[in-house]
Amino acid sequence: MVVYSEYSKGKLERMAQKQENIKTKSAARVKKGKKSDLWFYIIIFILLATMFLWYLRQMGHLPLWIDNQPSTLIAEMDPATRERRADFKIINAHEHVQSFSNIPLLLKVMEDCQMEKMILLGTSKFTFYLNPKYGFSEYDKNNEEIINISKKYPDKFIALCTIDPRDEDKLEKLKKFIADGAKGLKLYNGHGYFYDNFFHLPLDDSGMMEIYQYCEEQGIPILYHINSGRFLDQMERVLQAFPDLVVIAPHFILTSRNLTLLSRLLDTYPNLYTDISFGHPDFQVAGFKRISYNAVAFREFMQKYRDRINFGTDIVITSYRAKSRSYIDDITLSYFDMLEKEEFTLPDSIYKMMGKKARELTDPNTVYRGLHLDDETLRMIYHDNAERIFENTNKNK
Ligand SMILES: [Zn+2]
Repeated sequence: MVVYSEYSKGKLERMAQKQENIKTKSAARVKKGKKSDLWFYIIIFILLATMFLWYLRQMGHLPLWIDNQPSTLIAEMDPATRERRADFKIINAHEHVQSFSNIPLLLKVMEDCQMEKMILLGTSKFTFYLNPKYGFSEYDKNNEEIINISKKYPDKFIALCTIDPRDEDKLEKLKKFIADGAKGLKLYNGHGYFYDNFFHLPLDDSGMMEIYQYCEEQGIPILYHINSGRFLDQMERVLQAFPDLVVIAPHFILTSRNLTLLSRLLDTYPNLYTDISFGHPDFQVAGFKRISYNAVAFREFMQKYRDRINFGTDIVITSYRAKSRSYIDDITLSYFDMLEKEEFTLPDSIYKMMGKKARELTDPNTVYRGLHLDDETLRMIYHDNAERIFENTNKNK
C-alpha cells in the first residue's frame, strides 16, 4: 500500500505538473492568439479608416488636404508682367465655387494671379460632380453659399444666383436672392446637356418671360449659357423681346468656330456680351487651338468687340484633390497667355486633366499662337466691362 501510495503520489504529482504545464502553455497560446487578433483588427481598422478618408477627400469634404503650393509659374513670372497685370485690376467674370471651404485656397489663387475680383455663379450639384444622377439639384444651397461668400468678402466676390426654369416660384426666389445680395442671374436653359436631360424647355418658354421682364426692368444682368448652334432662334426671340436686358452668353456664345455669326449677334444686340472662358480642359485646349489657327481674325474680332467681352476661367472650384492651387494658377495664367502673348505653351497640369480621348489628340509640346492684345483692349476685357455690367447695371444699387 505504501509502495502503491508512494508510486501514485509521485504519479499524481507528475500528472499535476503536466496539467500545470498544459495550462500555462495554452494560456500563452490564448494570449498569443488574442495578440494576433488585436493586430488583425488594427489593420482592418486602419484600412477602413484610410478608405473612408480617401472617400471624404474625393467627395470634397477634406479641402485641407488639397495641395496648397502655388504654381512654379508664379515664382517664374517676371516683375514687369506682374506690374502690368496689377494695373488692370483683373475681374474673373465666370467661376463656380462649391462651398465656403474652397475660399481660403481661392483667395490665395487670386493673390497669385493678381485677380482683384471674382464673379461666382449659382450652380447645381450636377456641375460639381458631373454625375447625371444628381440632376439639377441643390442649386439653392449654392445660391445661399455664394451670396454669403460675397457678403463676407464684398470687395472680392460678386454672386449671381441661379433658378430652375421649371420652378413655379422662380420669380419669388429670384427676388429673394437679389434682396439678399445677388447681383445678377445665371441661367443654364440654353445648355444642350441641361436642356436634354433636365429642363426640356425652350429659352422663350412662356414661364421664363416674367423672369426676363423683371431682370430687364431692374437692370439685373443674366449670365446665360446658350448654345447658339442649337438654340439660335430661341435666343434671338428673347433678345428681341427684351432689348434692354443685359445678357452675357459665355464661351464666345459657343460660336468661336463662326466669327461671322458671332459678329452678327454682337452687332444686332447691343446689350449682348460674351466671355472668353472655355470650361473643362478638353474644351479649353480645343478652343485655344481654334484661336491659334485663326489668331489674326480672332485678334481683330477681340479688338473690334473689346467692350463686349469679359475675362473668365470657368474652372469650377471644388474640393476635388486635383483642383489644387497650382492647377488653378496654371489654368488662369494660360488664359492670360492666350490674351497677352504672341506665342505660348500650356503646362502639363492642363493636359493631365484632359479626358483620355482628347489628350491622345493633343501634342503637349504644341506652341499656340496668342492674341497679343494691346493694353487698352486688355483693360476692357480684364476689368472695365465686368465692372460696368455688374457694378452699375443693377438699378437697385
Ligand atoms: Zn460656367
